[in-house]
Parts: sequence; C-alpha cells; structure tokens
Amino acid sequence: MSVFSVTLPSGVVWVPQFVKAVNAEKCIGCGRCFKVCGRDVLQLMGVDEDGELIAVDPDDDDDDEYEKKVMTVANGQNCTGCEACAKICPKKCYTHSPTPV
Ligand code: SF4
Ligand code: SF4
Repeated sequence: MSVFSVTLPSGVVWVPQFVKAVNAEKCIGCGRCFKVCGRDVLQLMGVDEDGELIAVDPDDDDDDEYEKKVMTVANGQNCTGCEACAKICPKKCYTHSPTPV
C-alpha cells in the first residue's frame, strides 16, 4: 500500500500523519492542541450528562450545561498531518495515521 508523502527541498521524504481521533475518555479539555493547530481542524465541545456533545460558546461559557469539555475533530479534511496537536497533548489523546494513495 502506498501512502501520501511529500519530498522536502532537502530530499527527505516526509509521511504526514493525519489526525484520526481524539480519545474523549482521556481528554481533559485543556485546549493546548487547539492553540497549536493552525488549520482550523479542532473544536472544543461540552459533554452533557447524557454523554451528548454540545457546542461551547466561548463568549458565554455556561459550564452548568455540560459535565466536561473535550476536543473534537471538526474539520479533519483541513489537517496537514503535522502532529503538533499530538506532541503538545499531555494526556496522549491523539490517533494519527498516514493516508493511502
Ligand atoms: S496534525 Fe497538525 S494540522 Fe492536523 S489537527 Fe494536528 S495540529 Fe492540526
Ligand atoms: S491537548 Fe489533549 S487533553 Fe488537552 S484538549 Fe487537546 S486532546 Fe484534550
């Protein structure tokens, strides 16, 4: 199986590891990954008492509505596979993989 790769100007071949999932059980909603992602891939969501994801309004953060916050992959198609999110995550929540071509 061939996977998507990029040949850098140095001649080194880089295989991007695209984001696949964030483990909601491990995630503490710290937001570090969101800050390092420059591609608008991630979105912080609330988890209500039924385990349903609900939008978090950063301007009206009413934390009575949810039990905890978790990071989600909202726009996976924007990911460049840089893995910055996984490197900064203190809880090792991320799963990444190359993309077949
Ligand atoms: S791998 Fe890079 S581009 Fe993709 S979600 Fe993580 S930080 Fe964003
Ligand atoms: S850095 Fe890790 S623990 Fe923090 S919000 Fe992102 S996925 Fe969750």
